[in-house]
Amino acid sequence: MVKPNIWEFIGQGAKMNGCDPAAYEQARVDVLNALPGKLTGYDCPICKNKGAVYVLREMEIVSRPCECLTVRQVNAMLEKSGVSEALKQKTLGNFIAKKGWQQTILEKANAFIEDDSALGFALLGQVGCGKTHICIGIVNALLAKGIPAMYMPYREEISVLKKTQLDESFGERMDWLKRVKYLYIDDLFKGKINDSDISLMFEIINDRYLNNRPILVSCEKNIDELREIDEAIASRIYEMCGKYRINIARDDMKNQRMKS
Ligand SMILES: [Zn+2]
Repeated sequence: MVKPNIWEFIGQGAKMNGCDPAAYEQARVDVLNALPGKLTGYDCPICKNKGAVYVLREMEIVSRPCECLTVRQVNAMLEKSGVSEALKQKTLGNFIAKKGWQQTILEKANAFIEDDSALGFALLGQVGCGKTHICIGIVNALLAKGIPAMYMPYREEISVLKKTQLDESFGERMDWLKRVKYLYIDDLFKGKINDSDISLMFEIINDRYLNNRPILVSCEKNIDELREIDEAIASRIYEMCGKYRINIARDDMKNQRMKS
């Protein structure tokens, strides 16, 4: 049996309706646009998950990339970024800056995002004053702009790295930590620290330092305490973060967690 040709079928319909050739071509475009595609992760009402939209240009059917491709790229980056659903909700826009020093931090964060030459942003000191919220807010803002950024929760990541040091995945993981455009290290040197923790962190931070790849750091230790742990790491953080290095003095009044 001969399969009915959909174009002839539409053409006959168009002819029967006395349609002009433009209407016939448009009918073909409509059929193409209605076909479902195979892209996953985001349900696009415009291209029906084909990633392309068909249009008529001077009586010729041409396709253009659908705008959902940008959304899909950002989603893919978010998945690779390590930013969980809960952390995605923390933005600079919803950081509540009640006091002057919080306002200063927020202003620095916004300036950092706009500063293409900035190589680092560090919030050091004081426990529980919203350091992670601000830094993850920067990461989310960068991702929203389509700039690859990665969230590295120090304690979890360092334990994974040490456990997998002999695995094939180790090199790939280290490469990603070294090469991603922006890397946010959360709670650096939290907990007990040994030589292998220091040497892994030095490898990552030094590689980024040598290649001008920005870092964001939040840490409960101040720069002098970091120096006591490792002079080389501390001096690189100090230099990379420059004017975006903020030390929050220890003062229980600043502890947001204690208030709530
Ligand atoms: Zn689409």
